Amino acid sequence: MTWDRDIVLKSAPEIEIMQQGGRINAMALDAVRKHIQPGVTTAALDKIAEELIRDHGGIPSFLNYPGPYPYPATINASINEEMVHGLPSKRELRDGDIISIDCGTTYEGFVADSAFTMGVGEISEDAQHLLDVTREALEIGIEKMVAGNHVGDVSAAIQAHVEGNGYHVPREYSGHGVGRKMHEGPQVLNYGLPGRGLVLRPGVTIALEPMVLVGTHRTRVLPDRWTVASADGSLTAHFEHSVAVTEGEPLILTKL
Ligand code: MG
Ligand code: MG
Repeated sequence: MTWDRDIVLKSAPEIEIMQQGGRINAMALDAVRKHIQPGVTTAALDKIAEELIRDHGGIPSFLNYPGPYPYPATINASINEEMVHGLPSKRELRDGDIISIDCGTTYEGFVADSAFTMGVGEISEDAQHLLDVTREALEIGIEKMVAGNHVGDVSAAIQAHVEGNGYHVPREYSGHGVGRKMHEGPQVLNYGLPGRGLVLRPGVTIALEPMVLVGTHRTRVLPDRWTVASADGSLTAHFEHSVAVTEGEPLILTKL
């Protein structure tokens, strides 16, 4: 049922379906993860994800998603300074790169949306720290996704952890409600004030996605018109889970 401001509360059976789709999406991400190594192209990773999703009765949610032009692939593959929406291509991964893979699966009409970032071969200590802080920011944000908390409590917790480590969060890109549409309400920024915004309640489902930049919070869109990178060329990372608010603990929908 639609509750308020484009926010659609999901029933228990709907959340069950979202978990099934989330598991397929997690399997696709896991299959991609196992193939990440120097010399692999991001186009090859894209093919792996698409095949796994279709083999399990899902549809790639990102494929043909409206934008500057219909999104042409199953995954976003964003390397180093690229933060989100990187286009798969013939570019080969190199030792020391970090790569973010974002993927969406539509299953029985519901979308699952999730992302991770990892190193290719050996990465620097600084890059590893960025990955650790970004993953922790997601975990900390998820912990705040309990009924009665405000959306601002989630946002503020993410911001505090990221900025407390000397990094930055973008202003133009955020988490979002997820369900029959990939982007529903509420918007969940990666910065904000505790006690502000919507009060969470059971049935709210959110794709929570901290994006973190090393240099500044500024971003730019590359000439391909999809890829979003840090404005200063510094490294970026991104982790995401689709999560349901329940009567009890937050339920991560996009895990194996
Ligand atoms: Mg995503
Ligand atoms: Mg998302």
